Amino acid sequence: MKNITVIGSGTMGNGIAHVFAQTGYDVTLVDISKEALDRGLKTIAKNLDRQVAKGSLTEADKTATLARINPVTDLAAGVTHADLVVEAATENVDLKLKIFRDMDAAAPAHCILASNTSSISITRIAAVTKRPEQVIGMHFMNPVPVMKLVEVIRGYNTTDAITGTIMDLSKKLGKVPVEVNDYPGFVANKILMPMINEAIITLHEGTAGVEEIDTVMKLGMAHPMGPLRLADFIGLDVCLYILRVLQEGFGNPKYAPCPLLVNMVQAGHLGDKTGKGFYEYTDPKNLVVAERFRKKELIG
Ligand code: NAD
Repeated sequence: MKNITVIGSGTMGNGIAHVFAQTGYDVTLVDISKEALDRGLKTIAKNLDRQVAKGSLTEADKTATLARINPVTDLAAGVTHADLVVEAATENVDLKLKIFRDMDAAAPAHCILASNTSSISITRIAAVTKRPEQVIGMHFMNPVPVMKLVEVIRGYNTTDAITGTIMDLSKKLGKVPVEVNDYPGFVANKILMPMINEAIITLHEGTAGVEEIDTVMKLGMAHPMGPLRLADFIGLDVCLYILRVLQEGFGNPKYAPCPLLVNMVQAGHLGDKTGKGFYEYTDPKNLVVAERFRKKELIG
């Protein structure tokens, strides 16, 4: 395996391109516009600078890593020579099905098609291709250069050989791969999202406030971040979307999103990315509980 193509140069795509290029692979990075690619490359350069400042990378390695990344806007041209494609485009079913159809038509027969999706069925994505046995989930965690885990998701038809190749490759990237089967939420989100939802229900019922809930989980369960802070970091819209996937996929009401979460998303309070969620993000060094949740009478 030599040539890797990454589709999407956003939060996850630029991180994935970064780790492949740093490991020595030639990377083609595909996005829909030059502006999006420039933003992705700028983020990679900034993150490499941070590694150089920490002494974990030399200036020469940084230059060599950046030189291995080739940005393009034409998806078909971008996958023509790929041995592996990792798709990390926007989380939207129709968009991903179209990308996989197009990739399947343009990529060489031996090429493995992987998706970094957080919640869409790998089996469903694989079904629109003529190579479902070569389609697999490669679910990196955010931020990709830092987080060790890769959830490797076997679709219904994914072969042992393809799974083994992706497990080995993930190890080469310095990651720890974990093999899981393709069911809603896989493992990470099937466990994480109900916990986040339960934290929101606990707040909504008035059992405790934002800081109290997060402190219990940080100090009591040794979580590095409380569940409400983590929900803001992930994005409340993303949490809601994944809970709906679990609710629909398992047909079980236990996954029903808390009405407070639904309200916050409808109101546009999505967490870090909008500056407001369970916390307010005006001053990044000073985390403040959102005004609304400081008034106890509004909870419940
Ligand atoms: P993002 O919005 O930051 O980036 C998505 C990128 O895809 C954008 O740059 C967009 O221009 C590009 N794109 C859209 N349509 C495209 C197309 N047709 N061809 C090429 N590029 C296209 O999103 P993200 O947070 O990086 O998420 C990407 C994927 O990773 C999603 O499937 C998401 O579920 C998954 N994921 C996200 C996280 C996270 O914490 N953000 C964690 C794990 C997995």
